[in-house]
Amino acid sequence: MLKRVLVANRGEIALRIIRSLREMDVETVLVYSEPDKNSLPVITANYAVCIGPKEPVNSYLNENAIIETAIHYGCEAIHPGYGFLSENAEFAKKCEENNIIFIGPSHEVIAMMGNKQAARKLMIENNVPVVPGSEDVLESVEEAYECAEKIGYPVLIKASSGGGGKGMRRVYGRDELEKAYLTAKSEAKAAFGDDSVYMEKLIINPRHIELQVLADHYGNVISLGERNCSIQKNNQKLLEEAPAFGVSEATVKKLNDTAILAAKAAGYNSVGTVEFVMDDDENYYFIEMNTRIQVEHPVTEMVTGIDLVRWQIRVAAGMKLAMDKAEVKGHSIECRINALTSGVITNLHIPSGYGVRVETHLFTGYEITPFYDPMIAKVIVYGDTRLEAVRRLRRVLEELVIEGVKTNEEFMHILTYQKDFIRGYYDTSFYQKNEKNINQLIKVGKHGA
Ligand code: ADP
Repeated sequence: MLKRVLVANRGEIALRIIRSLREMDVETVLVYSEPDKNSLPVITANYAVCIGPKEPVNSYLNENAIIETAIHYGCEAIHPGYGFLSENAEFAKKCEENNIIFIGPSHEVIAMMGNKQAARKLMIENNVPVVPGSEDVLESVEEAYECAEKIGYPVLIKASSGGGGKGMRRVYGRDELEKAYLTAKSEAKAAFGDDSVYMEKLIINPRHIELQVLADHYGNVISLGERNCSIQKNNQKLLEEAPAFGVSEATVKKLNDTAILAAKAAGYNSVGTVEFVMDDDENYYFIEMNTRIQVEHPVTEMVTGIDLVRWQIRVAAGMKLAMDKAEVKGHSIECRINALTSGVITNLHIPSGYGVRVETHLFTGYEITPFYDPMIAKVIVYGDTRLEAVRRLRRVLEELVIEGVKTNEEFMHILTYQKDFIRGYYDTSFYQKNEKNINQLIKVGKHGA
């Protein structure tokens, strides 16, 4: 087993990883930026090294400084968490070249899956259903017109190197196509340095259903079931559930089989997520594979009892999977708490109790700076049934106290009272449909309990 691992991340996920490593008796070296000096991961790691100023390019994305620190401290592996360098194939390759284990899949797999059009092609070759669309990247606007005529409007133009919803444009008719094609291209160029785009049929108000997979270096792959992550604001997830309520047992089985097929096709050997969009008739289509641990991984851990971060580290260290399947039991919901302003936390109460898990790096006196991701806590609940989980989530959000900064806590609390959420059957149009009503209720202050 590993003796010392470098953690190249910050916030709640750095803490989550440090905690797992500690429980495995592995020492940790954390790299951090100047504004993160007074943070829980810094205090909790065995060693903490400041590698640069606030700008991510000079700190959390500073590949050379991170690798040099790993070598200097004798770390055998680097855990990249999510975001930052976690899906950077070049960095994974550099780790390999320096005899450091990158805790994630091989750089070839990251590169292949990071190019969404290439991933799509691979899935087609392996009989994984993909959204009808272009066979390759679109070379010209004429090609875009031709493809759209073939698959039929509405269509979606997507960046091959896309992520975080950037470089994506919906097109409802021929007259909108040229402008959408050009803006998607320039947005993709600015965000990813790669302006290649492709086309998919726009599925109207689909559910975002994703499958958690876990694979080792010996060809063993298991699927840990599905998550419904359809509550999104600007393509950013706000709340996730496992299992996905209202998907038939037969489709769940098919989804698990498809996820295993996709992971095997990719030659996968770590934790990963296979993402699909699903229509009302439970037709589902591959959209992309994320080659890292995801923000929403805890809901799967809660319903399967499998510690994903621990297993991610174990398989990276060369261990074989000890299980050949995962059983899903009960229901789990994660709610993301985002800071809407920066400032110092003046008062904090983290709820606890049966079926409650809160992943956060906050403490009273901690300063939330504007430089990084605004997510400051994940509230995760577990219940025997979905209803129990929903009621527990409400109770936890009522108990949670975060003072000193504005957060989306009240918004999320009221969200749990919306009809579609209670029903459990909702799609990616949820946010847009409910946002106004929730904000209205916040304004008049007459909600909930
Ligand atoms: P990114 O990597 O930028 O997040 P994804 O391909 O994962 O992009 O898609 C993000 C979200 O966009 C999905 O969760 C889904 O809500 C929506 N989406 C993606 N592809 C389609 C599609 N073909 N039809 C309808 N919605 C889609």
